[in-house]
Formats: sequence, structure tokens, C-alpha cells
Amino acid sequence: MAWFMEMLRKEHTFMETTEITDSYSRLSREEIQALEEQYLFPTYKRYDLFISHGSGAYVFDIEGRKYLDFLAGIAVNSLGYNHPRLVRVLEEQGQRIIHCSNLFYHRYQGILAKRLAEISGMSRVFFTNSGTEAIEAALKISRAYSHKRGKLNKSGIVALKNSFHGRTFGALSITAQEKYQAPFRPLVPEVTIMEDIAVPALERVFSDRICAMVVEPIQGEAGVVPISPDFLRAARELCTRHDALLVFDEIQCGLGRTGRYFAFQNYGIEPDLITLAKSLAAGYPLGAVLGNKRVADSLQPGEHGTTFGGGPLACRLALEFLDVVEDEALLDRVAQLGEHLIRGLRGLASLHKTIGEVRGLGLMVGADLGAAAKTVVQKLLKRGIIANAAHESVLRLLPPFIVTQDEVNDFLRILDEVLTEVEAEARD
Ligand SMILES: *Cc1c(COP(=O)(O)O)cnc(C)c1O
Repeated sequence: MAWFMEMLRKEHTFMETTEITDSYSRLSREEIQALEEQYLFPTYKRYDLFISHGSGAYVFDIEGRKYLDFLAGIAVNSLGYNHPRLVRVLEEQGQRIIHCSNLFYHRYQGILAKRLAEISGMSRVFFTNSGTEAIEAALKISRAYSHKRGKLNKSGIVALKNSFHGRTFGALSITAQEKYQAPFRPLVPEVTIMEDIAVPALERVFSDRICAMVVEPIQGEAGVVPISPDFLRAARELCTRHDALLVFDEIQCGLGRTGRYFAFQNYGIEPDLITLAKSLAAGYPLGAVLGNKRVADSLQPGEHGTTFGGGPLACRLALEFLDVVEDEALLDRVAQLGEHLIRGLRGLASLHKTIGEVRGLGLMVGADLGAAAKTVVQKLLKRGIIANAAHESVLRLLPPFIVTQDEVNDFLRILDEVLTEVEAEARD
């Protein structure tokens, strides 16, 4: 295997941008922070990291310090920060046309939809700009599917506790986390949140008034929590029996993250709708909802739309992303490195009592660290590693697909040191 990794490594000749000379390059961290404090709604509590640029699996801060990135822009930058093939497409397409509205045809939307249909087994695609909008489209398709069959009372939507589907009203209504919902009620009606993610509870929740069930096969923001295959199978059966749509939110776990194109392909269960975004255009905003034959006629002209979604630049970047994944055999690489990472973390768990359960699939990995999670993330950052704490207590790792085994080993070595330090401090 070593030669294989070595070969993959040599193919990546990333350019390290050392000189940045735009007129804003002299802003100091204090100035950047002051501007944001004065002019932004304070929605983000940012880490103390001021990013300048990136190269491969590394980002550089404005003072030139280098960080190994195990978060990839939250599962977005799957090919790292300046993959030469993406850079070339950006330059080339930027010269031609960036945006042209959905009133007209362009070359790339149909061909991208075809590619997504081929790798997913789905039949139809609608493009959006974000994950949240893909969820909104899925919810609208779900209601339209039932209502257009004359079932006007079939509007109920089932979602799971600790889910994350986005921040607009529809998506927020099925995002079952109090801190996100509380300030904004009333939300969209007819949503049922399952507190107990178990088959008997699912059977109780279902009725002919349910039009859709939305599930992240592996919950991301909840702290990398895989939903059991038994539960997913039962959801599939109940949706079929009650003529409801099974929606898999693969915005985080899809598009190669688990070592297959889609997370559902690990379980042998087919959803009716799939939402995508994050890594779809590998760093440029693009989302999509994919639907099977059953839902193909749910939307007619004028019933849904977007100004930006599926523009030529976004679509070309997504086509290039999918080509690179295939040309560089990245799915196998994600599967192998994911196993290596999980094995390494389980090894560390036997040395450090701070690590509880280690979960995940491919390069979507979580390690339970309890109350230490945030401290560990801060200490990793000080030592040049970017990760984050999901659901307060879980170290969440989403490295880019182009990460190398050596880089995974670097990460494990530094995590080992950080945990030793954290445990020593706890004893003092
Ligand atoms: C990130 C995410 C979303 C929201 O996507 P945005 O692009 O931020 O709107 C929805 N669902 C899941 C599972 C996500 O991880």
C-alpha cells in the first residue's frame, strides 16, 4: 500500500502562495476583529485563527503560521485548498462566464445532473446554493408529492433529535436542537421530532398523515452519530407503506466522505430524496436535491426556483470535483485512511481515559471527549491542527480526501501529546 500512497502524494504539486499583495493584506488581526465587532451581527464565536490562504491539507494564518486542517471548511474543501485542477477551472470559467440566471440554458447544469444521477441511482436534480436550501426544496417536494395526489392533509414531517438540517424556517423546524429553535418560534407546523431513535417509536410516530421523514444517515453536528441500519431499514419500510418520502440529508456525509459516493450506499437502503451541498463544488457554494422516479413529477415550471443555484462556475467545479475523485481513486483512499484514523484513535483511547467512544465511517470521524473536547480543540489549534468540537463534547474530524497517511499520523501524534497534557492538568 505504501507505494500507492506515495504515488498519490507525488501527484499533488500544490502551490504554496507565499506572497499576498491585495490592498487588504496589511490588515492586522486586531483591525480585522474590530471591523467585525463593529459591523457584523455577532452570530459567530470564532476561534482565534485568522486565515490567509491554504495549500493542500494546510491553511496558513495571516502571520504565516501553518495548520494541518482536519476540518476542511466543515466537510467542504474535500480536495484541499488549491487543487490545481480546481484552480484551472476557476480561472478558465471565470474568464468566460460566472453567472447567467436560470432563465437560460448553459452547458454544465444538465451534464452535472446526469453525473449525480448516475452515481446515486436517482432520476432528477434541483440545484441550490446551500445545504439549507436543498433541505427546503426537499420539504417542498415532499408536501407537493402528497398534496398533488389529492392528499391535502398529508403534510406531516418526521425528524430526529439532535438533527441539523439548516437555519431557514423549514430547515430549522426539523433541526431538533433547542438552542437553534428557541428564539424563533413559531416554526413550521406539523413537524414531529423523535426523541427516541428506535424502531418501536418509529412505528408509533408513523401514520398516513406523514409526507416525509428526514434523516442524516450519520448525524454530523450531533457529534458524528451513525443511525443504526435497522432503524434506517424500518424508516424505509414505513415510508413505503404510508406513501411518505424518505429524505436522506447527506449534506455532510455524502459525496465520498464515507468512502462511497453516498452514505446510503453503505447500508443497502435507497431514499427517495437526497440533499447535498458542502463538498459538491469543493469550496464554491452549490447544493442539490436529488429525487428518484417516484418524485420526478412533483415540481412543475414556476413552482420552485433560485437565482444563483446551478450556475456555470459552480457546476463546472462540481464536475471537476467528481472527475478528480474518480481519477485519483479517492473513494478507496478515504476508506483506507478513515480506517487508519479510527484505528489510531482507538489505540489512543486505550492510553487516554479522556477518549470515550470513537465513531464514524471513512473520513467522517468523531471521538467522545466529554467536557475536555473544547480544551483539546484549543490546544490542537495552538499546535497547528484544526479540528472542532461538535455537540460540545465530541472531537469531530473531517480531513480533506487528499490528506496523506503521514499527515494522519502527525495528527495522532499531536493529539496524543495534547491528551497527555490535558490529563496532567486535570490531575493538578
Ligand atoms: C451543513 C449542513 C446543513 C446546512 O447546510 P448549509 O450549506 O450551511 O446551509 C444541513 N444539513 C447537514 C447535515 C449539514 O451538515
